[in-house]
Amino acid sequence: MLNIRVRLAITFGVFWAMAINYSLAATEDVIKLTFLGTGAPRPSLDRYGPSILVEAGSHRLLVDAGPGMRERLFQAGGFELLTDIDMIILTHLHFDHTISVPGLWLSGWLYGRKVPMRVYGPEGTSDMMENFQSAYAWDIRYREIVGVHEEGSELIAQDLESGIFYESDGLSITAFPVEHMPIDVQSGELLGLEGDTLGFRIDYQGHSVLFSGDTRSTESSNIIGFGNDVDVLIHEVQVPAPGDSPEARLANVSLSVHSTPDQVAEIFRQTRPRLGVYSHIIPPELTSEEILSATDYDGDMLVAEDLMTLSIGDEIRVGVTGGSGTNIFTESDVVDQ
Ligand SMILES: [Zn+2]
Ligand SMILES: [Zn+2]
Repeated sequence: MLNIRVRLAITFGVFWAMAINYSLAATEDVIKLTFLGTGAPRPSLDRYGPSILVEAGSHRLLVDAGPGMRERLFQAGGFELLTDIDMIILTHLHFDHTISVPGLWLSGWLYGRKVPMRVYGPEGTSDMMENFQSAYAWDIRYREIVGVHEEGSELIAQDLESGIFYESDGLSITAFPVEHMPIDVQSGELLGLEGDTLGFRIDYQGHSVLFSGDTRSTESSNIIGFGNDVDVLIHEVQVPAPGDSPEARLANVSLSVHSTPDQVAEIFRQTRPRLGVYSHIIPPELTSEEILSATDYDGDMLVAEDLMTLSIGDEIRVGVTGGSGTNIFTESDVVDQ
């Protein structure tokens, strides 16, 4: 049903008319998502780097922290959101998923957050966060000397194993490995790089959402098992570049670690989510119509856009946020009185 509505809405160009007010959903028994960035490494003014805000009851956290996340977060909810987020979960350590961690950690603290930033991710996350702390030690010391509060400048990290790693007030988050490590394109053999890449499933009050992370698609994909009975399945996608030019060949090298629309359609067919969603779109200039028309799937699905919201409850509602500009910051929030 939703599929028909969404596809029709996109077709007739009234997609944004379905907008809901930003503040509506978070207090209900729903999972609310705000897509802060739906692109990938290549810069795009329309699709910032991958990052999704998750709100459920009193919980607020980010899945990934791509380029521009801090600005989109500010656009979605001003200083209130910027200073309230204290938890980031990372699917993997590519820069397009991590580069805004220091930006939010430090500016959230500078403008008022007084609890540490907690970051969860695959093997190597703790090392990366320690390096961020070393890199910005001078900045933090400088600001503390001129009077910025000391609480909240800490960055606490945890490397994850598979399984449930977070359970609190009805929210549980499960990590599972996905297949994004480099392989020999001819043989399919792993090339031996250390580390791991993850997908996440979040469950809250009987509702659920799965994040594929970056992944190729195989018959053994964990997304099939963990995506079984999920309400919303958010999957990355790379549409192959046509032709055999050097540019096309270069663009298509990364197909061995990402998923084509045909492959995602097969994942959707096997999991049948209430709603399938594309985000982390390669290349970012693709339109929704182009991606949907390349996807042979008859279930409900849509292509995420930056600042789109999804409210996942008994109904799944699509909206848009942003352009607040009404959040006024006062200096008394920065310095201890
Ligand atoms: Zn990526
Ligand atoms: Zn990646």
